[in-house]
Amino acid sequence: MPSMKQVTFRDLWQRFAELVHENKSVLNDLDAAIGDADHGSNMDRGLEKAVEALNASPEGSLRADAKLIGMTLMSTVGGASGALWGSGMLKFAAALPDAPEVTWADFVNALGAFVEALSKRGQAVAGDKTMMDVFLPAMVEIQAQLSDEESLPASMVRLADQAKAWSDGTRDLVAKRGRAAYLGERSAGHIDPGSLSSAFWFEALAGAVGQQ
Ligand SMILES: [Mg+2]
Repeated sequence: MPSMKQVTFRDLWQRFAELVHENKSVLNDLDAAIGDADHGSNMDRGLEKAVEALNASPEGSLRADAKLIGMTLMSTVGGASGALWGSGMLKFAAALPDAPEVTWADFVNALGAFVEALSKRGQAVAGDKTMMDVFLPAMVEIQAQLSDEESLPASMVRLADQAKAWSDGTRDLVAKRGRAAYLGERSAGHIDPGSLSSAFWFEALAGAVGQQ
């Protein structure tokens, strides 16, 4: 049965930080169209700090890593994204066994707790033009793939491609939550920046799982 090792989990966050850093201005530009132009800068700052904190932290517990990420993102990202990613990762941590390696099922279960926390805090449903337009369908996919763990790296690559497509799909939506909702119909025509950074997380996951 495949597992999630601490080295893979840290690699995932390193890759996520790099993807956000490389695409910082893309994310800022998307946010400029329907928000306040800071999503890339905010996520980049928080993820840089989170990776720094991970590198300085002793190994031994995935739960401790996830908690550290949550607390760091909460205090450094700011805005709605900081609260969502931060509180989500704290729930993720609480759902994980306190071990240096967890089963893939444990990891997916913790991701479910993350998505549930997002859902409670953000009150967004699919179609509201938020990060949930990536995380909700991704959660359904990743749970469906639990029974076919042998093809895990390939299925994570496929999921990353789907996540990008779901993010692209937010272009046509009218925002119902967050700052973009104030724009109403004028929010249509632009990809939601939070959905794109979420798609980067799945790209990072595919890269890390493929590497292990
Ligand atoms: Mg913003």
